[in-house]
Amino acid sequence: MRASQLYAPTLREVPAEAEVVSHQLMLRAGLIRKATGGIYTYLPLAWRVLKKIKQIVREEMDAKGGQELAMPIMQPAEMWQETGRWDVYGEEMFRLKDRHDRNFCLGPTHEEMITTLVRMDVRSYRQLPLLLYQIQNKYRDEIRPRFGLMRGREFIMKDLYSFDRDEAGLDISYRKMYDAYTNVFSRCGLKFRAVEADSGAIGGSGSHEFMVIAESGEAAIAYCAACEYAANVEKAELKAITVPAETPLPLTVKDTPGTKSIKEVSSYLGVSPEKTIKTLAFQTEKELVLALVRGDHEVNEIKLLNQLGCLHLDIAPEQAIVSQLHTVPGFIGPVGATGVKIVADHTVMQMVNGVCGANKPDQHYIQVNPDRDFQPDIIADIRLIQEGDPCPHCGAAVKTARGIEAGQVFKLFTKYSKSLEATFLDENGKEQLMLMGCYGIGVSRTMAAAIEQNHDDDGIIWPAAIAPFHAVIVPISGKDSEQMDLAERLYGELNQAGIETVIDDRSERPGVKFKDADLIGYPLKITVSPKTVSEGLLEVKIRRSGETVFLQLNAGVIAKVK
Ligand code: ATP
Ligand code: MG
Ligand code: MG
Ligand code: MG
Repeated sequence: MRASQLYAPTLREVPAEAEVVSHQLMLRAGLIRKATGGIYTYLPLAWRVLKKIKQIVREEMDAKGGQELAMPIMQPAEMWQETGRWDVYGEEMFRLKDRHDRNFCLGPTHEEMITTLVRMDVRSYRQLPLLLYQIQNKYRDEIRPRFGLMRGREFIMKDLYSFDRDEAGLDISYRKMYDAYTNVFSRCGLKFRAVEADSGAIGGSGSHEFMVIAESGEAAIAYCAACEYAANVEKAELKAITVPAETPLPLTVKDTPGTKSIKEVSSYLGVSPEKTIKTLAFQTEKELVLALVRGDHEVNEIKLLNQLGCLHLDIAPEQAIVSQLHTVPGFIGPVGATGVKIVADHTVMQMVNGVCGANKPDQHYIQVNPDRDFQPDIIADIRLIQEGDPCPHCGAAVKTARGIEAGQVFKLFTKYSKSLEATFLDENGKEQLMLMGCYGIGVSRTMAAAIEQNHDDDGIIWPAAIAPFHAVIVPISGKDSEQMDLAERLYGELNQAGIETVIDDRSERPGVKFKDADLIGYPLKITVSPKTVSEGLLEVKIRRSGETVFLQLNAGVIAKVK
């Protein structure tokens, strides 16, 4: 590729709207341009990177027996109504109608579509296991699309779904995907960790998130250097605590003053005070929200919530997450404002709307602010795991880091096969539900995460495996015919040898070319200078280390560059 023809419009200034470095650098290096909030065009350099990531993903999925297919992005409402998610998905789902007034959505994920597909044709245990995947655009109307490709509303995802005869089969499929994901992120040249994750509103249990380590990551993770333990801190086991049963819990709500002791609360929950504390803390952090979404634990929580001053709950398992969150802050607020931290995206919405407390319809407090209107005390000693805490598995001091969720694997068990009746006949001719798993990789987010992890003040430092090109040749003087001849010859030979090379043939000053080369982040920058012509010395600068090596021309340059 000739730089004079490459459509990579670079910018000198840092665009004002870009808050994180990957967003800034992708705009500056001419990788993306915004169409509207959370929706971007991928320019040629970005597209090359994305194609490489997709290729790595493909190879690893195929190596585990995955079969690629392509499902529709536009999905009919009916299958989502069958699983109840048409209502549960809430405002994050992009919805549309056809001319006959029928409802559709743009796929945020494809469990409904794939399960409906597989139930049509799979009849026998002999047809299982199945691992089916696709790589395509996904649509989520994120409440806060931001950080460029990190949280888009249209983004590229690889989603694979596994179908097995039994739990042992599901375990094998899950393990395969776990290993495949490990290979994908290793091959992309990224530093990452697989952490135990909450399985969240998608349902089922048993999940890992693949976190690309970066300061700017939205997630906090805890890991142990001495053993295998690693978890998203939201899911990490809580620090062991001893609190006397008489300790008053700060469970006051605006209209119902007074505190309850742990003992009192535990009798509502019908469990020991120790368990109560753990349960409460856990619920406070996240689990309550999810428990209500899933519709289990309901009775005790409702009792507790009632006792805490929530008059009457309008929660039903199939209700929108949004309305459940309207419910939860009334609970979270008084016990501790930690829900704000954990369910950040949703809670921000709650704050924006100023709605709090959840009771009967039309009984929500409005314009309520947790700090202003009630004191969100936090129970002393109950907290998420922190740096230096003993590892829940081996007791060694844990470390913490921040990460970007680039992928996640889930065991779904029979959540979707049950509601969509995806069954097969086993060896004994008996009808059984298929055991499912789902496995996603954010392809476009992985590209952004790679930049978050690999950059310096001058620009991007691509890991070689996903770099848009491997090398750029910069002739110091485009007017010097000897330099240009040499540069052209090298350009031809390197590309011939499979080293994807750009020649900067623009009539720009060398300084401009060098700056652009660093900004775009080619792993190798090859300078053709008067010295190259006179002494046969080629200057090769390695972007990552900043190291410069001089290579003797005509002495196997290509072999060395490789
Ligand atoms: P998050 O917690 O960041 O909202 P998620 O848990 O909702 O992500 P999943 O449903 O697990 O996402 O989707 C699989 C993968 O798709 C994620 O691990 C992530 O890499 C990617 N992804 C999800 N939402 C977005 C988005 N809005 N923009 C870009 N990539 C996304
Ligand atoms: Mg999400
Ligand atoms: Mg997530
Ligand atoms: Mg996820």
